[in-house]
Amino acid sequence: MLLDTSTLYLVATLVAAMLGGMLLYFGRHENIPALNWWGSAYLLGGASVGLWTFVGPLLGEMSTLAFTAIGFVACGMVWTAARVFHGRAPIWRGVFFGAGAWIAAIFALPADMMPLRTTIGAGIVAFYAVLTAYELGLERRKSVQRRWPTVLVPLLHGFALMLPILLGDVLHPDDATFGNSIWVTAFAVELVLYAVGTVFLIFVLVSERTVAAHKVAASCDPLTSLLNRRGFAEATARMIEREAKARRPITVMIFDIDHFKSINDRFGHPVGDEVLKLFASVITHSLRITDLTGRIGGEEFAAMLPCNLDEAMQAAERVRENFAGCGIEVDAAPVATTVSIGVAGGPAGTELDVLLAAADTALYQAKRGGRNRVQSAEEEPLSLAQGRKAAASGLMPKPAVTVARAGVTMKMEIAQ
Ligand code: GH3
Ligand code: MG
Ligand code: MG
Repeated sequence: MLLDTSTLYLVATLVAAMLGGMLLYFGRHENIPALNWWGSAYLLGGASVGLWTFVGPLLGEMSTLAFTAIGFVACGMVWTAARVFHGRAPIWRGVFFGAGAWIAAIFALPADMMPLRTTIGAGIVAFYAVLTAYELGLERRKSVQRRWPTVLVPLLHGFALMLPILLGDVLHPDDATFGNSIWVTAFAVELVLYAVGTVFLIFVLVSERTVAAHKVAASCDPLTSLLNRRGFAEATARMIEREAKARRPITVMIFDIDHFKSINDRFGHPVGDEVLKLFASVITHSLRITDLTGRIGGEEFAAMLPCNLDEAMQAAERVRENFAGCGIEVDAAPVATTVSIGVAGGPAGTELDVLLAAADTALYQAKRGGRNRVQSAEEEPLSLAQGRKAAASGLMPKPAVTVARAGVTMKMEIAQ
């Protein structure tokens, strides 16, 4: 079956124009600059193919060459869209480089060197395809498996365009019949498939990014920018798993700002909010970057550290001192800010709920002991598995941690 080349290029033009319009619409609607670049590139690319196919033959060879140059600008814009999508700035010289190289080649080469022109033209498109694949491959947030189609599709496109060059002798592109050959038909079909396939990939990328942004928003506390309770639980689950594999201990702290209600009552809610933000920055700066911190309640915060109880007690003491000494002033009058901290450590694999319950009991003791102090759990809490064994053997835990374990036992029953 031989397909009509002009009809195919007409289809390619219309498809590119329609997709370009769609991308521009979504780009403007969702305020995504990369989609504006992609959309404009498609419109320009579609115009280039249309003019090249239908107007070029009427106006002569030079116009055909100029329309081809427009197509190379469109390729540069596709590459720029991939850059902009990942937060990098456009490189304008790069956008026009292909068109410039093409024009220079036309003027430098004699008109009878058609095959070399074809080679240069296909080489420019392949060059931009590789650059685009490189930009899309740079995205580090996704695993390689999920990224491979976004890299493979532009690479295949570049390869398809380079094919006649690689098989130059077989194809004879300077042959008069070449224009109607199966290869030109194949390129037109490839162009349409590439245009449609790429838009599909673009929307996959955009939707993945949107989901990721919503996920971050759902895990973060907007006031302090720390993890919220849900985000903290998710992040700590990963830390627990990792540390359990390495058989290292973990420690949890709960921080509760002392007499916070009175700060609100005396100075108002906005000042209370500022104190919460300040405390969040005190914890972040007092702990290590590898430690996890979150706001788990109104004026309650928590942290998980991949270390033993002694090291965690020192870190907690640092937070307490830094907060007490941070020198908050309202209307030039100093405001005393202190925090009470409960700390509980456990062997590798101890569950978050178990550690939080033990740290909460220690926090209660710190409050009862006069506040502005760090208190560790009296004894190491049992993990769910250990608790199950202890319950089965009839060994009841000591009263100091009964509350914590009672909660755990109930959870175990629900889980079973
Ligand atoms: P204690 O030393 O026993 O912890 O006393 P406290 O006053 O800190 O504890 P209490 O639980 O009585 O009060 C907590 C207060 O925190 C009550 C609530 O209005 C306030 N709060 C909770 N969330 C926010 C918030 O987002 N912003 C502000 N400004 N206040 C909050
Ligand atoms: Mg509280
Ligand atoms: Mg409090």
